Amino acid sequence: MASTPQSPLGLFGTDALIDEDDRAIRDVVRTYVEEKVKPQLADWYEAGTIPARELARELGSLGVLGMHLEGYGCAGTSATAYGLACMELEAGDSGLRSLVSVQGSLAMFAIWKHGSEEQKQEWLPRMAAGEAIGCFGLTEPDFGSDPGGMRTRAVRDGDDWVLSGNKMWITNGAVADVAVVWAQTDDRIRGFVVPTDTPGFSAPEIKKKMSLRASVTAELVLEDVRLPSSAMLPEAAGLSGPLSCLNEARYGIVFGALGAARDCLETAIAYAGDRLIFDKPLAAYQLTQAKLADMSLELGKGMLLALHLGRLKDQGTLAPQQVSLGKLNNVREAIAIARECRTILAAAGITLEYPIMRHANNLESVLTYEGTSEVHQLVIGQALTGQAAFR
Ligand SMILES: Cc1cc2nc3c(=O)[nH]c(=O)nc-3n(C[C@H](O)[C@H](O)[C@H](O)COP(=O)(O)OP(=O)(O)OC[C@H]3O[C@@H](n4cnc5c(N)ncnc54)[C@H](O)[C@@H]3O)c2cc1C
Repeated sequence: MASTPQSPLGLFGTDALIDEDDRAIRDVVRTYVEEKVKPQLADWYEAGTIPARELARELGSLGVLGMHLEGYGCAGTSATAYGLACMELEAGDSGLRSLVSVQGSLAMFAIWKHGSEEQKQEWLPRMAAGEAIGCFGLTEPDFGSDPGGMRTRAVRDGDDWVLSGNKMWITNGAVADVAVVWAQTDDRIRGFVVPTDTPGFSAPEIKKKMSLRASVTAELVLEDVRLPSSAMLPEAAGLSGPLSCLNEARYGIVFGALGAARDCLETAIAYAGDRLIFDKPLAAYQLTQAKLADMSLELGKGMLLALHLGRLKDQGTLAPQQVSLGKLNNVREAIAIARECRTILAAAGITLEYPIMRHANNLESVLTYEGTSEVHQLVIGQALTGQAAFR
């Protein structure tokens, strides 16, 4: 007997755990992604491009950029609302969510948390409005999981700083107006606010990616980039500076990855309902339903975890190792869901006509950036045993 189908998260009733204001913000972002972005994503992905400037302005007027920060033109929403916005953006594409994460959680957060009043006034209002784009340069060609080994150096010359080195895999790099660059000094690792029109700075784009194609990824080349002493972030000294920013972005991914998974699952359910195989809908076969049930369980459990972590963050008690729990679980499950959904669409699943393969490919990057799965296992392992096994 047929009954009215429920959505996977509808089945879990997770909306009841989200307060009205946060739901309203989520719905605005969802409508924007559905109407303005989704229809164009496949084309951007195929072309390996994204109109970052135009999108940044639109996202700025929606109030999404740095939305969970207070003051300087930022919306000052709850962390839960920010997470939910990430989820809707990534239901569009991980590249879109990356644009927003890097802008808000990495570049803006670094300036907001560690910057001088002058740096905040100069950059944050324009970045919140999407008039200026930021990037965050930590990773280097030889130092990804181990950023403490970085070779980029900042050397004092009179009152100035002179930066030289290379950063790799930098989201928004080639379109950024400002780069937050982390460099080794004689003292410790420090952060620098680098306007990208400073002589000696260039950001060649990295092409031929099979993942995050609707996202700008670049190398940052710093050849004797001379900056005034005021360019250094005064409140960040040591690796804890960039790590505090990564923690913010990882938190957004806990929700974001579920957006991609939800989009895959909803697509697969709709497809299975329409596709007739041996004279009946694919959705009416037990094997298909077992897949859908198992994937819905993981999506719903991931959502409960994300909302729990969101609540802890709003209370101000969220610990980095708890963010690792969420990032590790939700990205791992999202990629498994995307791959399983692809089997339901079979051949049709490999095309850009459906979003599934695009999400699956994107999630490969999401699994790697902001701490690989292995790094998060090590963070959790250390929390459980008290033993650091990183080296
Ligand atoms: C699309 C994309 C966008 C990105 N955007 C940015 C950005 O905006 N800014 C930025 O700074 N970086 C960015 N990154 C870089 C990203 O953060 C790094 O790729 C990531 O930290 C991993 O570094 P790596 O690729 O050098 O891998 P490696 O560190 O070389 O790791 C290789 C393998 O070794 C494993 N490994 C590492 N340590 C251990 C250990 N102790 N024990 C066992 N295994 C270990 C890793 O998990 C991985 O499986 C981006 C990456 C991608 C793909």
